[in-house]
Amino acid sequence: MRLILLGPPGVGKGTQAKILVEQLGIPQLSTGDILRSAIANKTPLGVQAKAIVDSGDLVSDAIVNGIVSERIDQADCAKGFILDGFPRTVPQADALGAMLEQKGLKLNAVVEITADPDTLVARVAKRAAETGGARADDTAEVARKRLDVYREVTEPLVKYYREKGLLRTVDGMLPVDEVTAAIRHALGA
Ligand code: AMP
Repeated sequence: MRLILLGPPGVGKGTQAKILVEQLGIPQLSTGDILRSAIANKTPLGVQAKAIVDSGDLVSDAIVNGIVSERIDQADCAKGFILDGFPRTVPQADALGAMLEQKGLKLNAVVEITADPDTLVARVAKRAAETGGARADDTAEVARKRLDVYREVTEPLVKYYREKGLLRTVDGMLPVDEVTAAIRHALGA
């Protein structure tokens, strides 16, 4: 099963991805997690990406496309994977399509998780309080910026994948376990 979780920051993509990893037995591939780990370890990638990630902007398509292409080639992705936070732009979606085709792989579904914008800002602020500011991009100001970026460059992917017949939409305002059930229902899993 090759799956994309699509939705604004704070909608619960990461939470759902982690549950689905357990239930479906395939890994989560989070470009945000990979970038945060690179930043924490001060790798050349991390040093390059830190200021951009902290500000709520997107790092370049070339960087994340490379991260994903390498990660998909690893053995644990052989049975499938859950993409969380990628693709985030139409050029990234095009690049993903090309890399999957080149690797002889097919995308099964794109699950869009929705929620109202006020709830999202409140959720990100709550995560900031709970994690003691572990993520420099979890402030109300950066949360709003990330929502704006989502609307501008990522939301067009809803139409992009709907036109390919791959889009399923679930309500992210429901309790966590009901969102999981809705995703599994949407996948027929
Ligand atoms: P996330 O954990 O998915 O919310 O990502 C955190 C941050 O990492 C984003 O605000 C971006 O700065 C960066 N990032 C993660 N995924 C991508 C992506 N696909 N394209 C560009 N930047 C990304």
